[in-house]
Amino acid sequence: MGVDPLSQKDKICTFDCTYCQIGETLLFSSERKIFVSTEAILKEIASLPKNAKIDYITISGNGEPTLAKNLGDIIKRIKKIRKEKIAVITNSSLIDRSDVQVDLLRADFILLKFDANAEDLFTIVNRPSPGIKFGDIVKGIKKFTAMYKGRLALQIMLVKKNKSYAREIAKMAIKLGIKEVQLNTPLRECADDPLSKPEMDVIKKYFKGMKIDCVYNAKIKHVKPMHKEDAEKRHGRGKR
Ligand code: SF4
Repeated sequence: MGVDPLSQKDKICTFDCTYCQIGETLLFSSERKIFVSTEAILKEIASLPKNAKIDYITISGNGEPTLAKNLGDIIKRIKKIRKEKIAVITNSSLIDRSDVQVDLLRADFILLKFDANAEDLFTIVNRPSPGIKFGDIVKGIKKFTAMYKGRLALQIMLVKKNKSYAREIAKMAIKLGIKEVQLNTPLRECADDPLSKPEMDVIKKYFKGMKIDCVYNAKIKHVKPMHKEDAEKRHGRGKR
């Protein structure tokens, strides 16, 4: 089940990834603030039937969820009323900040975006807002993984721009001690073309020894949105 702690009309993000399925980033921000009160989120979650079949409560959003200053409070208070594990999907841009690390430590599963092996490729693929540096992200991941005891995976989006760097990205993941990766290519409509299954199969081999989930092997789960429009904001309808 997805929770969006931003819930704004337009995406708010620290990146403007070329493949973003929800369209261009018009609201760039690196400032953490409260977008939706913890109470409002808890009220919706409390309305779920106690026996609803949910594997993870996943905090992602119409943009970057660590921008929500109350992220840690949201996780802590959801845990008081639901028994499910909590996942956070982040683009890793603020992972070098200690306040963000403290918030993320509360979650059971962290998915970290990692699409590049160096500053120049990072700038081309993720198009970060000024001040966000690839080197700081790498340092932040190193520091966070040393403290974090839960499940952690890198989420890597592969497109034509970073395909030939996939081996280097895998080497960095190994150096960082990563045990699990999700290898994605954009199958929903966006500005980048997806890589083919044979191309992804080659890339998978670079990550040998890790737990690998590849988008082409993923089982499609049919889920019912609580709010169709809000779900479309996060998943996109192919706006570009
Ligand atoms: S893909 Fe995620 S991180 Fe990249 S611009 Fe879109 S919302 Fe932001």
